[in-house]
Amino acid sequence: MTRNGEPFDAKLLLQDESQVFERKQSLSLQREGLESLCGMVNADPARGTIAFGLAPNGQVVGVEPGVLDKAQRTLTQVIRNRIDPPIQCTIDVREVEGKHVLILSARRSRDVPYHEFGGRAFIREGTSTRQLSLAEKQSLQRMRSRDIHPGPWTCDKCRSMVGVLGSFVITNEGMRRTYACECGGEFWPAT
Ligand SMILES: [Zn+2]
Repeated sequence: MTRNGEPFDAKLLLQDESQVFERKQSLSLQREGLESLCGMVNADPARGTIAFGLAPNGQVVGVEPGVLDKAQRTLTQVIRNRIDPPIQCTIDVREVEGKHVLILSARRSRDVPYHEFGGRAFIREGTSTRQLSLAEKQSLQRMRSRDIHPGPWTCDKCRSMVGVLGSFVITNEGMRRTYACECGGEFWPAT
């Protein structure tokens, strides 16, 4: 179990399912939940939350307290073993109406073009999740990977935009493109 210190807003549980939020009635729907989470982080908002123990209509059904510890360990293990590249996840257990709701949140860091779950990449569109095709994965690489992206670029500090990056540094392995901006920030693919 990891905690990244970001407090979870319990009001979120009352919201409708969305691009970044889905309910799962039971922990037996772990695989479906993780596919959705993978789809959420791969979409542009780059983050998502799955709440286990909530019926599709929002009713609190709770996950069985007896299996909670084991479920958290299993979930952590599955995330570690099956999500590639590794992703930072937060697992939180909240008591709502006397029942336990397990809240799983994740975020894609901007240097990762997309994550795969069990060897497949997913994308979330509204409230549905589907698998990405090879062409779509290549397009995401080109849009998000700094090694492949052709431009334009935005600096994450001063927000200046450039079409082409032309700075190189000499390293032990030869010339390498640098993403440094003169303001001290770094250039990332503009979206
Ligand atoms: Zn800058």
